[in-house]
Amino acid sequence: MSFIREESLSVADSEVFAIIENEFDRQSTHLEMIASENFTSPAVMEAMGSIFTNKYAEGYPNKRYYGGCQFADQIEQLAIDRLCEIFGCAYANVQPHSGSQANGAVYAALLQAGDKILGMDLRHGGHLTHGAKPNFSGKNYHSFTYGVASNGRIDYDNVLEIAKIVQPKIIVCGASAYAREIDFKKFREIADTVGAILFADIAHIAGLVAAGEHMNPFPYADVVTSTTHKTLRGPRGGIIMSNNEEIAKKIDSAIFPGTQGGPLVHVIAAKAVAFGEVLHPSWKEYAKAIKSNAKVLAEVLIQRGYELISRGTDNHLVLISLINKDFSGEDASVALENAGITVNKNSIPKDPRPASSTSGVRLGSAALSTLGMKDKEFILIAHKICDVLDDIKNIPLQVQIKKELETLLKGFKVYNNATY
Ligand SMILES: *Cc1c(COP(=O)(O)O)cnc(C)c1O
Repeated sequence: MSFIREESLSVADSEVFAIIENEFDRQSTHLEMIASENFTSPAVMEAMGSIFTNKYAEGYPNKRYYGGCQFADQIEQLAIDRLCEIFGCAYANVQPHSGSQANGAVYAALLQAGDKILGMDLRHGGHLTHGAKPNFSGKNYHSFTYGVASNGRIDYDNVLEIAKIVQPKIIVCGASAYAREIDFKKFREIADTVGAILFADIAHIAGLVAAGEHMNPFPYADVVTSTTHKTLRGPRGGIIMSNNEEIAKKIDSAIFPGTQGGPLVHVIAAKAVAFGEVLHPSWKEYAKAIKSNAKVLAEVLIQRGYELISRGTDNHLVLISLINKDFSGEDASVALENAGITVNKNSIPKDPRPASSTSGVRLGSAALSTLGMKDKEFILIAHKICDVLDDIKNIPLQVQIKKELETLLKGFKVYNNATY
């Protein structure tokens, strides 16, 4: 008799099933406005839940350390080919378990411990892995930062000045909380001036880049990483791309055997599915919707008197400054959660409050755009956000708004079937 129980999860483990059901309800009844989140398709989840989770495939297609890899080879090669087609690059590694793992491998491939890296300050919108001191990138390497000017935008002349003083081996561009287009060409010029490698991390904007709705880091960057689960709308994971064969070889060795063991073949299968969706003609429309929805969101917030870092947006996210308010980003995110809107508190440039409370709120349009929401819904939601923040202690108002938004969401079902 087989040791495998073939019952579905609800029967096999009702405790886990119940928690997943609760999460399903949460995702179905709250407006998802965390800028780094999205709703991936049932097809992506199906591939991710597939039997490829059983397979060990250390190595790369046709160069494995295990037998039985012929279909793992096929799925990984398909993911690589689709990814190269999306971004117009020659080499791709689809094995990183996450965006942070991808970035760690880039440093491991191209730097020695103690080498100098120059990345965007965490408080100005950069990511932990761009050299923040509590992160491995700030511990293992000698990290320096650039930030945004008082207008909330990157001042490229200032980045050049800092680069000339620091003389970094790698310049990292790309951000987690920056609402404006990143000019990769200017970063290339800066990198060339100081003889640095240019590393672009497009974790947040990849879905827009894929559609031509944001400047492509190719051909400017030497190496490009991304997550696959943000605007790219795939499973949780990371990717690394390059046009330079020598760099690509070093990256492959830095992922395996350098920093990871077996690849998550089931996740790679899901990445392939997601990349297929990105290559579909409708992706362009989706990316346009993400941007236009973020724009109307920003416009209403400004009309209602809220201050935005950089005074608007070019991409999928909006960063509200609460620097002149008597409540924090933490207070705002709790109040919005009560009103059925999920966001995150976020540090802003020159933030006087600590990272645990912050003076910012980050909002994103990618997930609600996936549901098919347009201007009309985003204008309404923006007003509700302002209503909550204008009267932040008014709990009955939050309860009332939550009810209204749940009704709105009924017309934009996330998934029709709770078995996910
Ligand atoms: C989200 C993000 C990452 C890290 O991704 P994880 O998958 O959470 O490790 C890296 N870089 C940037 C710019 C990000 O926004």
